[in-house]
Amino acid sequence: MKKFAVAFLLAAAPASLLAQANPLPPPVAVDPKVAALRDAALNDDYAWDITEGLTTEIGQRLAGSPEEARARDWAVAKLTVMGFKNVRVETFPVKTGTRGTESAEIIAPFPQKLVVNALGGSGHTGPEGVTGEIIAFNSVDELRLAPDSAVRGKIVFIDHHMPANQDGSGYGQFGAPRRQGPTIASLKGAIAIVIRSIGTDHNRTPHTGIMTFANGARPIPAGALSVPDAEQMVRVLKRGKPVTLKLRLEGTYFTGTSGNVIAEVPGRDPSLPPILVGGHLDSWDLGTGAIDDASGVAIATAAAKRIMDAGQPLRTIRVVWFGSEEPGLLGGEDYKAKHGKEPHYAMLESDFGAENIYRIDSKLGEARRDEARMIGAALAPLGIVTGDFDKADGSDIDPMLEDGAPGVALKQDGTRYFDLHHTSNDTLDKIDLAQLRQNVAAWTATVAVLSGGIEPAPKPSRGKRR
Ligand SMILES: [Zn+2]
Repeated sequence: MKKFAVAFLLAAAPASLLAQANPLPPPVAVDPKVAALRDAALNDDYAWDITEGLTTEIGQRLAGSPEEARARDWAVAKLTVMGFKNVRVETFPVKTGTRGTESAEIIAPFPQKLVVNALGGSGHTGPEGVTGEIIAFNSVDELRLAPDSAVRGKIVFIDHHMPANQDGSGYGQFGAPRRQGPTIASLKGAIAIVIRSIGTDHNRTPHTGIMTFANGARPIPAGALSVPDAEQMVRVLKRGKPVTLKLRLEGTYFTGTSGNVIAEVPGRDPSLPPILVGGHLDSWDLGTGAIDDASGVAIATAAAKRIMDAGQPLRTIRVVWFGSEEPGLLGGEDYKAKHGKEPHYAMLESDFGAENIYRIDSKLGEARRDEARMIGAALAPLGIVTGDFDKADGSDIDPMLEDGAPGVALKQDGTRYFDLHHTSNDTLDKIDLAQLRQNVAAWTATVAVLSGGIEPAPKPSRGKRR
């Protein structure tokens, strides 16, 4: 059907109109060296090696925890063995904590247990828990419109209908129950809040994630029910009888140390601004953070390593494994505070899983449009569409991109991402090697173009330097 329609249009439209509707930009030749690096990366093992190693030898890496500190040591050792230079850690303090006993139980009208996990930043209940009547809403806006008197003394429940989609755009809108729900509930006098997990799966694995109490709101216990448990809650509520829930979310908070691990492939001209490539080292404490974000640091690092193996780039490639992304991009903030004033040639971050890249956006500026198109041409054989030339994003690098730093965004297919995101199900077995390699191929080609050219590395001179 579609083919016929296109053929008809082509036949009917005058040639001049066609040229207008679909002007061909000047052709772009892909550097054979870049193409060769890209194709070789389709057999990459570096990214798998890092993802497997980090998730196996460290596991959970909660921001500011002793586990995240062990992960930094692991990263320093790994990056050093891989041959990166200037490997270092830049530390900063963060609020962290430990998860205690967590449970949710409908007391009436149909007594039964539900599966719950506390959100990051939640208030705690103590071992006695809190018990109260549920007041339910379909959205944060519904909660906001409710009179305080209806909410006071109750446990708020917020449902929503987050869709799964390729670009993950549902997360922005439907993440509101987690981000804003607890503050609004608290300000209206609720004693606790449970939300339907911000997720797209139907497993009994709640999705945690950060929230903060704003506007002077008193911290109250805030938990995420797994999606099937939230649907169960909806069915119970539909029976029309008052629903009483007992919620127990224990835990503790303390100040810990986090940090960014930084390593470099020194460029032939050290005076040139570096290319920053990265992901985040920390994860939530439920799974092993395979897709969020061991695979991200692995993809970025593998690409840099493959350039290093091929010779020496003109520009320095700086690899950053950000700490404390999950509590609110704190590693990105620390990097910005320490290095944000230094010029960067481009910034790229991988933090959306390990499924195929389907699109490239970039924001390199009008003067570098040819370079952006060259990257697009190098990625096209991987099935990657060239998108916009005026936007880029990435979690930790976003504040710097917003300040005007140039960036490239290699967009991964997020259709399944929110099935696993921030759950105990975020584990290595969810990563598909072929798709991980497609990511490395795309990153390698992109960084190769940005690198300004790769020449054979100079032979180390003996005796002159130490
Ligand atoms: Zn992440």
